[in-house]
Amino acid sequence: MIDVYIGLGSNLDDPKQQVIRAVESLKMLPDTVWVAQSSWYKSEAIGPEQPNFINGVARIQTQLAPEILLDALQAIEQDHQRVRTQHWGPRTLDLDILLWGQEVLNSARLTVPHAFLKERCFVILPLLELAPSLMLPCGTALSSLTAQCGQQNIVKLNETT
Ligand code: ATP
Ligand code: CA
Ligand code: CA
Repeated sequence: MIDVYIGLGSNLDDPKQQVIRAVESLKMLPDTVWVAQSSWYKSEAIGPEQPNFINGVARIQTQLAPEILLDALQAIEQDHQRVRTQHWGPRTLDLDILLWGQEVLNSARLTVPHAFLKERCFVILPLLELAPSLMLPCGTALSSLTAQCGQQNIVKLNETT
């Protein structure tokens, strides 16, 4: 079993409920063990002007092949009526594979670690909750990436919000 981290995000149609429902779907993935989820975070959108996002990270252990997991994640996005219109536009649900153990994957459909992981605090902060001493495959400590996070306006939500 390999440790895999998945980033969740939503900024349409009741984002908090979207990501909570997505967690329930992740818990039902075949050949996969659920490990943990982070807190939820609110962040301002990158890209075109649009509503704020709710983001979080899930940790699983899986025996699925990377592209099979990607298929399953895209099927969950489809269950949430995700419509692709503009690049980086608003979406009901986005599920990204952030890390696949210590592997580096580069195929037509998958870049892992996620291409923007090191610059997105809405990923770095929840990931740190789940793996405070994590080293990225490139040798960078995740904890060394938080210096930029003051400027990115990410708010950790209480469990009750
Ligand atoms: P960003 O990459 O900036 O987070 P996005 O999540 O908005 O962008 P999508 O439109 O959701 O991008 O996905 C476009 C394509 O990205 C997918 O069809 C998928 O093949 C590819 N992709 C590459 N690497 C990954 C990854 N690590 N996790 C999920 N999808 C990936
Ligand atoms: Ca994304
Ligand atoms: Ca995506």
